[in-house]
Amino acid sequence: MVLSFWEKEFIQEKFDVTILGAGITGTSTALSLLEKYPELKVCVIDRAPVSLGASTKNAGFACFGSPTELIHDIAVMGENKTAEIVKMRWLGLKKLLSRVPTKIMDYQQNGGYEVFDKEDATFGEAEQKLSFLNQFLADTIDIPEVFSVVNNTIWSSFYSKMISNPFEGSLQPAYMMLYLQDLARKRGVIFKSGVSVSEVLTEEKLLVTTEGYRVPFQTLCVTTNGFTRKLFPEAEVLPARNQVLITQELPDLPFSGCFHFQEGYYYFRNVGNRILLGGARNTDLQNESTDQFGNTTRIQDELIRFLERLYPGASDHIEMWWSGILGIGKVKEPILKWKNENIIFGVRLGGMGVAIGSYLGEKLADEIGISLGYKE
Ligand SMILES: Cc1cc2nc3c(=O)[nH]c(=O)nc-3n(C[C@H](O)[C@H](O)[C@H](O)COP(=O)(O)OP(=O)(O)OC[C@H]3O[C@@H](n4cnc5c(N)ncnc54)[C@H](O)[C@@H]3O)c2cc1C
Repeated sequence: MVLSFWEKEFIQEKFDVTILGAGITGTSTALSLLEKYPELKVCVIDRAPVSLGASTKNAGFACFGSPTELIHDIAVMGENKTAEIVKMRWLGLKKLLSRVPTKIMDYQQNGGYEVFDKEDATFGEAEQKLSFLNQFLADTIDIPEVFSVVNNTIWSSFYSKMISNPFEGSLQPAYMMLYLQDLARKRGVIFKSGVSVSEVLTEEKLLVTTEGYRVPFQTLCVTTNGFTRKLFPEAEVLPARNQVLITQELPDLPFSGCFHFQEGYYYFRNVGNRILLGGARNTDLQNESTDQFGNTTRIQDELIRFLERLYPGASDHIEMWWSGILGIGKVKEPILKWKNENIIFGVRLGGMGVAIGSYLGEKLADEIGISLGYKE
C-alpha cells in the first residue's frame, strides 16, 4: 500500500526509544520507560493492530511453575538459576496486577493444580520433593506452603491425587493487552501499528519496512520474541508453536482453575463453562519448532484424545482452534542483552511470559535509562 505524505511522515518519525514488538514485553517496556522518564519520546512498532505472537493468543494462566516443571528446571539449571526465574515470574505478576484492574482482564485466583497419569511414577517423585519445593518457594517468593497434595475427585482417568497451588490465577489476555496499550498511550507512548519490519540496518540505525520505508531509530529495543531470528539470525531464541482449542459451553463442567500436566507441556482451564486446552508440543517437537501459525492434525488428534479424558464427549463440542508462537531456548532465562550500544534485546520468555513480561519490561527500561545517561 502506498502511504500518504502524512502517514509516511508519521511512520518515519524518529523517537528517543523505538520498541519493536507490541506484545506484553514491548508494551510493558514502553510503560516502564515513561513511568521512570516521562520526558522521553517512545514509540512501539508492530505489524499487527494490537499484537501478533503470543501475548493475545496464550492460555491466560497467571502462574509461576508447576511442581514437575520446577523439579525439571532445578535438575537442568540448578537451584539458584531456577529461583531467579521464579522470582522474575512472581514480581512480573505483581507488576501486571498493579497495572491492570482484575475486573478488566477478568483475573480470577481460582488456583492451579498439577494432574498426573495413573501408571507413571511422576506423582510419587513430586510428592517426595514437595517439602523441598515449598521451602524453595518460601525462600524465593516468601510464601510458605505453596503446594499441597489434594484428592482428585474429578477424573478417574488421572491419578487419584493432584498437587494444588492456591496462588495461581487466570485472565483474559486480549483485554490485558488492550488495557496495557491504552495505559501506555495515556502516558504518551505512540503506537505505529500495521508496520512490518523486514530488515534492521544496524550501522545506519534504520528499520526497513516490508513496504520499503526506512524508519530511523536512536535506541532500538527488540521485543519480537519468537520472531527475532527473522531479523537477527544469530539471536539465541527459537520459535515454538503452541496449539489451543476451546469448547462450547458444557453442562456440569466438573472443575475450575488452571491445570498442568507433564511439566506444563499440557495445560487446561475453565473459561466459564468451557474447557480451554493447549500444548502437547512435546509430541511433535520437530514440526512445532516453527514461527508459522497454524494447526496440525497430529497435535489436534492428541489434544482431542486428552480432551476426552477431561470430559467424555467434549470433542463433539469444540468451538475453535488457534495457535501462538513462543520464544524458547536451552535455558528458560529471558535474554536481556545489548547487541551494540544502540540495540537491546528483551526476548525468550518461554511459556510464562504473562508472568515475566512486566518484569522484563521494567529491567529493559532500567537498562535503556542508564544508556541514555539517567542515574539508576
Ligand atoms: C498458545 C500459547 C499459550 C500460552 N500460555 C501462557 C500462559 O497461560 N501463561 C503465560 O504466562 N504464558 C503463556 N504463554 C507464553 C506467553 O504468551 C509469551 O511468553 C508472551 O506473550 C511473550 O510476549 P512477548 O511480548 O515477548 O512476545 P509476543 O507476544 O510474541 O510479541 C511479539 C510482537 O512482535 C511483533 N513482531 C514480530 N516480528 C515483527 C516484525 N518483523 N515487524 C513488526 N512487528 C513484529 C509481533 O507482531 C508481536 O506482536 C503462551 C504462549 C502461547 C503461544
